[in-house]
This record gives sequence, structure tokens and C-alpha cells, in this order.
Amino acid sequence: MKNLKQHREDYLKQFQTEVYGRNLLKVEEPMDSPTEECGIFGLYSDHDIDTFSLSQFGLFALQHRGQEACGISVMKQGKIYNIKDEGLVLDVYKVIREPETFMGNSAIGHTRYTTAGDKKKYNFQPFFAKNEYDQIILSIAHNGNLTNAHELKKELEEEGVVFKATSDSEVILRLIQKNLDLGLRAAIKATMDKIEGSYSVVGMTRNKFFAFRDFHGIRPLVLGAIDENTYVAASESVALDAVGAQYVRDILPGEIVFTNENEPGLQSFLVRENCERRICAFEYIYFARPDSTLEGINVHEVREQSGGKIWEQAPVEADIVIGVPDSGVPAAIGFSIASGIPFRPVLIKNRYVGRSFIIPSQEMRERIVNLKLNPILSEIKGKKVVIIDDSIVRGTTSKRLVKILKDAGVKEIHFRSVSPPIIAPCYLGIDTPSKDDLISANMNKEELRDYLGVDSLEFLSMDNLISILGSDRHCFGCFTEKYPVPAGVHPEFVDE
Ligand code: SF4
Repeated sequence: MKNLKQHREDYLKQFQTEVYGRNLLKVEEPMDSPTEECGIFGLYSDHDIDTFSLSQFGLFALQHRGQEACGISVMKQGKIYNIKDEGLVLDVYKVIREPETFMGNSAIGHTRYTTAGDKKKYNFQPFFAKNEYDQIILSIAHNGNLTNAHELKKELEEEGVVFKATSDSEVILRLIQKNLDLGLRAAIKATMDKIEGSYSVVGMTRNKFFAFRDFHGIRPLVLGAIDENTYVAASESVALDAVGAQYVRDILPGEIVFTNENEPGLQSFLVRENCERRICAFEYIYFARPDSTLEGINVHEVREQSGGKIWEQAPVEADIVIGVPDSGVPAAIGFSIASGIPFRPVLIKNRYVGRSFIIPSQEMRERIVNLKLNPILSEIKGKKVVIIDDSIVRGTTSKRLVKILKDAGVKEIHFRSVSPPIIAPCYLGIDTPSKDDLISANMNKEELRDYLGVDSLEFLSMDNLISILGSDRHCFGCFTEKYPVPAGVHPEFVDE
């Protein structure tokens, strides 16, 4: 028997076919920027602390890395409690009726954006494993993508392991669980020896806390301390600031940090010596918050310098420079400082618009960009404008933006992207379109300039990006198609 929701969906499907011939239920606006991955947060103290409030603050600071779901696991007097659900941090925390249940001496948390597996609840994190008495004995939160997850899942299933989710992150959980009898450190090492791809992980057993990072440190993971007995690990340093922790250092590529009942504080173990650092360059260009510092490099400074560099690389005469919010704005300020062309905050972003719309016509879909970004017309009419964006992915948003500016009566448009052309997809934890949909993989600069309808177009050069970041020890895979690890296939665990 159908329930009310099914009746409504059937009705709408029939309506869409008869009236519009297209899906009316939900239109996912195809993303036109690389999309955030996930944020992870972990906290450990040798005494009871307010893990409820602190993990909430930490996850708030990492909300930009994932808005689909979030969750926490808390270790309290030898037990692990878990809560996770769809929605923002505030949505999930506000339903916690007994916050004292989530106060203990250790917590891990996760904000989710789906890059592998589907969007169902069983893929929300932290993941946990139970013993035969239905008690949680292990919980982890993961940011990254495993490139060999599919094979490892098959191997484990052949050994009788039952998977509950379709995410690659569960492979990490099951491998640690399988080896726990060896001891925690050995179990994590055995897991790291098997898994490939990118991973920053925080986790806990019923009496130990741990965090570890892949052999290239592709996704970020920083370590901080609130006091000498209370440690924090998080995707970005902003989460340390949010809980009053001092930055200690970044967790090293190939390093496990963990607690041990015989020794105070955190222990460190390098699974492999001399790993080559290759943190994702896009963290600095787009993903990370500007007030974060990763591997000793402040994100805002990178963005501002990229504006100055692209001015040196491709100077132009103009009346004003504008930035596409949010990450294009510091670059526009950098461009303005270097060039002397005034920066004007002309593009106003609507912060309450998501990616999903119910929109029946193409004409209306075209208007989405006005909904998201609207210019202050009096500031741009009759002007020569430099517009700076962090990147050009599909090109659709850039094209619509150019149209808005033209409709507003600008005289000239000079488009600057402060990343090199994106020519290849990411397999390492960032949601980018396939190569067919990446406009720079299919058009050269002149073709793209004509497509956008601008007077000039320039991308930050790889040399300039490397000079701003201070070294080529980063992942530049989406610009060069050369990845620090074999790309493999995107580890979608589609139910078979
Ligand atoms: S391929 Fe691009 S987005 Fe993916 S990790 Fe490398 S630099 Fe970052």
C-alpha cells in the first residue's frame, strides 16, 4: 500500500510528464565549483570535559566542509555513544535532549559532504563497530577518498565481514576492527599498509583516542592542545581556535597519534619515514576557511597573493576590480593592492540559497545565478571591470555572471581565474565533474574567452601558484592530471 508521500510523488511524476515532460520533483543545480569534502574533529582529555559543547564548537567551525549531515561519537567511562543525522551541526545538536550523555573525556565528529557512497543515513559519520554484546567498541570519522576501496571491500566480504554502508570510509573501520587484537597501533598500521588514496582519520576505542593521515598528507589534519592533558585534532586550524586550543603542529604524512594507558599524553608513530608531503593545493584556493593555517601557510594570504600574482602575470587597464564571493574576494583585494585599481565589493551573495531547486523551466534555471549573486548596479555601469574568481569549473556560472554584468551596462570585462585551468577530475576527496564537463579540458583559453564573451581571460600559471605555495610539494592533480597516488576509480560503492 502506498503512503501519502508515495502518492504525492506519483502525482508529481504524472504531472511533470504530462505538463512539462521533465522531472519536477527536484532539480539539482549542477555544481559549478569543486565542492567541499568533509570536516573531521577529535578531542581527547585524561579527565572528563564538556565534550558536548566543545565538539559542537569544533564542528561549527568546519561546517563549510560539509552540510549534508553531521555526527559525533563520545567516549565516556568506557562506553561509546553516537549520534548522527542529516542536516547542519545546529540541526543535529538541537535534538539532543540529554547533553550530559555526550559529555565524556573524548569525542570525534564529522561534517559530511558526499564524495563517495550515496547520501543515505547509513553513510553518515562517525562510523562505529559493535561487539557481540551490541556495544560500540570502535568509532572513526574520515575525510578523503580511498582509491582501492572496492577491492578491499570485496576481500573483506569474502572473509565474512558484513558491511552496513556504501562508503569507502567503512573499509577503514572494518580493517581496524579486524586487526584490533594486535593492539590499536598495530591495527592502524595494518590498515594504512592496505588502503590507498587520501585519508585523514580521527577515531576512538572504548579507552583510546587516535588520529592518522595518509602517506602524502593529501587532506589536512592539524593538532592542537587546550592544556597539557587535552588534545584536539581537526581538518583545519579554525576548529582549534573555536575550542580555545593552541596549534601544536600538523599531523605528519604517514603518522599515527594515539593515547596509551601506560603513558600520559599523545604518542606518535610514523608508519613510514620520509613521506613526501603533497597536500591538496585546492584547499588553499577554495576549500579551507581563509582564517585557517595549513602546513604553516595561511589560506587568506595565499588567496591575496594570488590576486597580486595574476596582476603581474596579466596586467590590464580597468576602473574597478571585483571578486566573486567568497574566495574570489581576497584575491580581488590582492589584485587591487598590486595594481592600484580600486576594489569594490559589488557582488552580493545570498547565503541562504542551496543547490537544490524545484524549477520547471530552463529559463527559470538561468535565473538561479541572480538568486545567488546580485551586483550593485550603480557601481559597475559604464565601467571597465576586472572580475576575479577562484576557478572556472563547468563555466556555466561564469557565463551567467558575465551576462549579468553586461546587462548591467559594464563597458569591458576582464576575467581572471586565480587557479590554473582545471583539466582533470579529483579522485582524492573533492567532488569535481567528469572530464567531459570540465570546460578547460574541452576548450583552450581563446575558445573559452569567446564562450564567456569577455574582453580578456587569464588563469594563474602553475609557476605562480607554486611560487605562492612555496614549493611544488602539493597535489596539483586537477591542473596537471598527475596525482600523488594512482588515481584508480572513484570508489562509489553502488549497491550491487
Ligand atoms: S586532484 Fe585537485 S582537488 Fe583533488 S586533491 Fe589534488 S589538487 Fe586537490
